Amino acid sequence: MTKRILQPTDENIERCARHVIAGGLVGIPTETVYGLAANAADDAAVASIYSAKSRPSSNPLIVHVAKTEQAEPFVADWNDDCRLLAEAFWPGPLTLVLDRSPQVSDLVTAGHKTVAVRSPAHDVARRLIERADRALVAPSANQSGQVSATDARHVISEFPLEDFPVLDGGACALGIESTVLDLTGETPLVLRPGAVTVRALRNVLPDVEVPVIGEQTNAPGTALRHYAPRTPTVLVESQRFDERLDELDEGVAVISIGPRRLGSQHVLVEMPKDPDDYARCLYAGLREADESDRGLIVVEIPPWSGGLWRAINDRLQRACVPPLNP
Ligand code: AMP
Ligand code: MG
Repeated sequence: MTKRILQPTDENIERCARHVIAGGLVGIPTETVYGLAANAADDAAVASIYSAKSRPSSNPLIVHVAKTEQAEPFVADWNDDCRLLAEAFWPGPLTLVLDRSPQVSDLVTAGHKTVAVRSPAHDVARRLIERADRALVAPSANQSGQVSATDARHVISEFPLEDFPVLDGGACALGIESTVLDLTGETPLVLRPGAVTVRALRNVLPDVEVPVIGEQTNAPGTALRHYAPRTPTVLVESQRFDERLDELDEGVAVISIGPRRLGSQHVLVEMPKDPDDYARCLYAGLREADESDRGLIVVEIPPWSGGLWRAINDRLQRACVPPLNP
């Protein structure tokens, strides 16, 4: 194990809390994906997150809190809708976008008039926030646009030249990012589908709306290409899958749902049929395919669209858009 990976003992949490208070970065497990955490009130630390990730300055960060009261100073109006949603889904994988208060740094909001807040459920993330006694920004711990990290070792491989510590919380329980819900418009709008399903949101706020992928262009940080392996990746429908593989001359990495017989030139990454299990393996599966040294990744499109499959399909579609400047 690398020396940068720390077991989440009280002593190491204390060490990491002191490190973030002093302006350092810490890799942290959350129930969604690993985050790269810094003190939300320290502009220099927040700036170092953008540079470590090569994240565009137009892509705002989520403020992570251990309890609701810690979020309130960041937002202009903690109203009834926020209260209801926080009561229903916090701690958990729901990010709320709200009008910001004047005290939030422009670096955190990328200059927007809104701020995103969430309370993660992972015990290690919560202990760190509590110990530091500060809200932390924690974007996903990967190079901008690349596959998210769901394991401490993935974080190290995304940042081989950095020396920040990573708290080891094991594999992420959900494996897919939080749902981002914008409460600043006339109707609540899902900006990013995620681990909290639209149905669950509508049980609390019945008028929640969700745009189709590709029509979210004005939401910050929802670039069409995202979560993408370095290897070119294509999506193929289940019915055409075998036929499409037969057309290929070269060996490819195949991400299939369930088992599949393949020629020996191909590499198989087998994904589970259950959406919770699929989400949990999604990024590790994309990484495995990426590391198999084939020139192409061919992904079987999950033929389902309800519940968590919406978020899974969103990530797969974004992983497959070719880079703007290949
Ligand atoms: P990440 O933590 O890397 O998964 O990315 C955080 C995402 O949250 C951003 O890419 C945006 O999509 C979303 N987000 C954060 N802050 C805001 C905001 N003020 N308005 C809208 N979306 C936001
Ligand atoms: Mg991300």
